[in-house]
Amino acid sequence: MADIELRNISKSYGSTRVIDCLNLSIRSGEFVTLLGPSGCGKSTTLKAIAGLVQPDIGTVLVDGKDVTSLPVNQRNIGMVFQSLALFPHLTVGENIMFGLLRRGASKAEAKRRAASALDLVRLSDFFHRNPSQLSGGQQQRVALARAFVSKPAMMLLDEPLSALDRKLREDMQIEIRQLTRQLGVTAIFVTHDQHEAIVMSDRIAVMNLGRIEQIDRPEAIFERPRTPFVAHFVGVSNFFEGYVTESGFVEIKGGSGSIKLKAHGDNLCGTNVRVGLRPETAIVYSEGDGAPGDAILCGVTDAVYQGAQLSLDLVPVNTPDLCLRAKVPTANRPQSLGRLARGQKVLVHWPAESILLYPNS
Ligand code: ADP
Repeated sequence: MADIELRNISKSYGSTRVIDCLNLSIRSGEFVTLLGPSGCGKSTTLKAIAGLVQPDIGTVLVDGKDVTSLPVNQRNIGMVFQSLALFPHLTVGENIMFGLLRRGASKAEAKRRAASALDLVRLSDFFHRNPSQLSGGQQQRVALARAFVSKPAMMLLDEPLSALDRKLREDMQIEIRQLTRQLGVTAIFVTHDQHEAIVMSDRIAVMNLGRIEQIDRPEAIFERPRTPFVAHFVGVSNFFEGYVTESGFVEIKGGSGSIKLKAHGDNLCGTNVRVGLRPETAIVYSEGDGAPGDAILCGVTDAVYQGAQLSLDLVPVNTPDLCLRAKVPTANRPQSLGRLARGQKVLVHWPAESILLYPNS
């Protein structure tokens, strides 16, 4: 276990600043995910922690000690990357023993520890196989066993699951989470997939342009994103310019009219804001079904079946130049809603507490 702290880290390549005054503090035993779009600096941040990248400015501290200039092999870390880099000419067992032997363990000790690491990832019978005889998921487990075998104080995982198919990926997400918990290791995981970050992490750091925009528990990132960037990245797709009225409604103007939604915007009365509406928090009613007064009468312009959800594109009747997206669960839908097909009229409502308001800067 290790406490990790990054203080004012910056890194540039040529004239491009890839990490920009980044501060991050990770508690011992915590599972923290760096989440963000491709190119925002996630891997570079991870490499700075590993010692594979030297920051231009700033300090990396592990358990309070400055390790900024410490070489990678002295940092007591386990690493797993998307490309597994298993040696094809060595057996599974030999792959896991390799690092231990290089660090001076006896053959018997390395063998014993490799066997117990394989046990941990439920591959005890695969010691003598070649990596080419394993499935993608099994190879990924070997890579995990190899990283865990040296009992590292921290695990750094850079998109380790992105090559796996969906089902396997979901299984491995849970396995990695359980393994790191069981071993009490501090873990830093990199991904651009919000769902992966949400299911795996104690906290998520959402990165943008080399900085952390928000670091918080998954539910806070998902339900109360602090900036429009974070909101957009975690799936809030309806964004509009709005105005908060004195009566606490947010008004969104279209070409021919406006829509008004009851919102918790008391501290923003009389100001222009950006309004974010998460498609999944919409409640869709049929006409005459007792919708709240601020529900918006819309026509359905598209309905896409997505399995557990139905995604609806909606156009408000009085402001047809605005377009809203709502997602409703496929199961347990009121019968009165009908098929929810193109051309149908519905009322859509966003509860006040679900409406995201951001002051216009
Ligand atoms: P992410 O992991 O979020 O996709 P990276 O940290 O890999 O982003 O990269 C951030 C930016 O830094 C990208 O624009 C990338 O092209 C650039 N970059 C990363 N490594 C190097 C390097 N060794 N030389 C030059 N540019 C680099």
